[in-house]
Parts: sequence; structure tokens; C-alpha cells
Amino acid sequence: MSGKFACPKCGSEGTAPLAQSVAPPPKKNTLWGLMIVFGLVSLFSLHEGYSILSLLFSMPAIGAFTKSQEASDYNEKIWPRKYKAWENGYLCHRCGHHFQLKD
Ligand SMILES: [Zn+2]
Repeated sequence: MSGKFACPKCGSEGTAPLAQSVAPPPKKNTLWGLMIVFGLVSLFSLHEGYSILSLLFSMPAIGAFTKSQEASDYNEKIWPRKYKAWENGYLCHRCGHHFQLKD
């Protein structure tokens, strides 16, 4: 590729560094640390005989686990495809059209 291209909508010509979209897609945050803290407090409470307290701390631990699992799956399977599309995506500064360059 020569580094020059034209917008498919308005025909405006540009160069790759000036027209590439600004921010890459963000990864999702995981809550593994929170899950560990709540899980440990839950286990400690159960060990000390506070079963109701243990149950109360186990619920956010399970919620943090579920959220973290979903975030990890997104970051490993979906985010790389979005990042690749972002790398090949451009925004025309003349008309605002967002488009992909074909390799
Ligand atoms: Zn354009």
C-alpha cells in the first residue's frame, strides 16, 4: 500500500496517520482481585462458624467471578477482532464517513 487513499463516499484523499480513527476499542476490566477477597472472607467466615455472613460474602464473589469470566472471554475472543478492524479503520475528516481499507 502506498500510504495514500481516498474516501469511498466523498473521494477526499488522505494519508494513513492523519485519518486513522483516534481511540482503539477498550478491553473489559476483570474483577479477579475482588473475587479473591470476597471468596477468602466468605471461607474465613464459614470456618469461624458464621454461615450467614459466609453466604453474604459468597454472593459478590460469585458475581465477580461471572463478570470476570465474561470480561476474559471478551478480551481473548472478541477484542482482538475489534482491534484488528480498528487498525484498518479510517475516518474521513471531510465528510465524517468511517470506512475500512482492504489489504
Ligand atoms: Zn469523505
